[in-house]
Amino acid sequence: MIVGIDLGTTNSLVAYFADGQPRIIPNRLGKNLTPSVVSVDREGNVYVGETARERMGLYPDSVAQTFKRSMGTERDYVLSGRHFKPEELSSMVLRFLKEDAESFLGEEVTEAVISVPAYFDDKRRKATKRAGELAGLKVERMVSEPTAAAVAYGLYDKTRDTRFLVFDLGGGTFDVSILELYHNILEVRAVAGDNYLGGEDFTQVMARLFLQKAKLQLQDLSEKEQVRLYRQAEKAKCAVSGQNRVSMSFLYKEETLEKEISSKEYEEACEDLLMKIREPVKKSLADAGLKLSDIDEVLLIGGATRLSVVRDFLIRLFRKFPDTKMNPDEAVALGAAVQAAMKERREEVKEVILTDVCSFTLGTEVVVEYEEGKFEDGRFCPIIERNTVIPASHTERLYTARDGQDKVRVRVLQGESRFARNNLFLGELEIQVPKGPKGQESVDVTYTYDINSLLEVEVTVVSTGASQKMIIKGEDSQMTDEEAKKRMEELAYLKIQPRDYEENRLVLTRAERMYEEALGDRRRKLDHYITLFEAALKKGDQNQILETRKALNEALGEEDE
Ligand code: AMP
Repeated sequence: MIVGIDLGTTNSLVAYFADGQPRIIPNRLGKNLTPSVVSVDREGNVYVGETARERMGLYPDSVAQTFKRSMGTERDYVLSGRHFKPEELSSMVLRFLKEDAESFLGEEVTEAVISVPAYFDDKRRKATKRAGELAGLKVERMVSEPTAAAVAYGLYDKTRDTRFLVFDLGGGTFDVSILELYHNILEVRAVAGDNYLGGEDFTQVMARLFLQKAKLQLQDLSEKEQVRLYRQAEKAKCAVSGQNRVSMSFLYKEETLEKEISSKEYEEACEDLLMKIREPVKKSLADAGLKLSDIDEVLLIGGATRLSVVRDFLIRLFRKFPDTKMNPDEAVALGAAVQAAMKERREEVKEVILTDVCSFTLGTEVVVEYEEGKFEDGRFCPIIERNTVIPASHTERLYTARDGQDKVRVRVLQGESRFARNNLFLGELEIQVPKGPKGQESVDVTYTYDINSLLEVEVTVVSTGASQKMIIKGEDSQMTDEEAKKRMEELAYLKIQPRDYEENRLVLTRAERMYEEALGDRRRKLDHYITLFEAALKKGDQNQILETRKALNEALGEEDE
């Protein structure tokens, strides 16, 4: 079975398709969302999800989160003294989801359709694919998150032609895409986004407001205190929607500080973020050649669209109420599962036709004659422009730039800069041309880009008809099999925890964290229940484990996490 995976910045989900509809697969704790957080301890034990997030408050040096933002970069994460790349951390999340899916479905899962932000460039997509490989998952297809969401919303089921805007504000990334349904074809018309904007920025605004009121500076706080502050700010942020005010408390140097923040204050403080949100909306509309009033429906995706500051802003902007009938956290994973079913060519989804756009401009490097006899090289010539519907095929004719030139080199580049050097190099090919005065010989360069991000480049010499072809697999892995195997061997010291004990591990980690934060009687009480639970675990008596875990959970629950 091919599953659909939403590998999110904050949370990840896995879904499958059965009985004509996509469904979320609960994780080992029975929850739909698995936090995209990884922790590795000194012994090489790996923790993923909620347990890893709990460890943030205890051993911040052992935990990594929001690594999706660095996918495709060389950023080095150090967890308990060991080094990891963003895709390696992502692979641990994927492995966790894979195991949960296998246990739930009762069969091996070796392939997945993974969603990526529409704005992920080639490097980031490759890194995502590698993460899949490291987790033992074949990833032949990636879908852009807004497209997946639109599919989940069942947009293709509509009877009349409609234009939609999918507004996706997740934990750390923001995507806007405009889709058009026309004669039962769902077409992505434009995408735009910001890889550095998301719900976490709204949490930071809350944390800053609190610090201001408490007359504290962030640098006065220890690393653990900062984690706690952030956790409280996150809670306050989620609570403020629909309220006039929220109260936020924070334990600082053995003292509980409590401050009230009004929703008005919060809204004002978010003004800059709302301005930033406006930009990609404008850009996508401009690229699609549409006005705000041309949009028939606005769909909300991503946890942060639950914020009322964001919803109110959108209502003011579009003068209509967004469609919120889906759970914004789940839509992308559900859509990815529909895509997985399409890849399997399941009967139920056969009639759905989807098209996508290429999110970056593809072009080549050229020499430009800016004045008679004066040349400038290194300029970028777009061939398939950003937001062109794919599959697409475009041809550009290029002329020789020098007298006696006997070959033409086509460098394949991706990006938006006027200068070739600023764009991403994908490959190159060279072809011989008959010598002659400059401008006499020419080549036709044809780029063909398909739905699976395969770019075919063909160069034909106009005078001789000679041609050369090259295929660039946009989403292919850069890592050779050997390299992947080697790195997997290097990572073999990692001990993946058996999934059965996750609940025990989570309770214990949470209890340890709350013990550190507690004082006096409460601390002694927690110690008592932790000791009982640990004794039961040592003995391995299942009934006793369940009993003492329940008691410990109750003791923990007395105080809001
Ligand atoms: P996602 O990446 O789509 O899982 O979105 C995660 C983001 O959504 C995080 O920044 C969360 O704080 C935010 N979020 C989740 N639930 C809520 C809520 N009820 N109100 C405000 N923000 C939320």
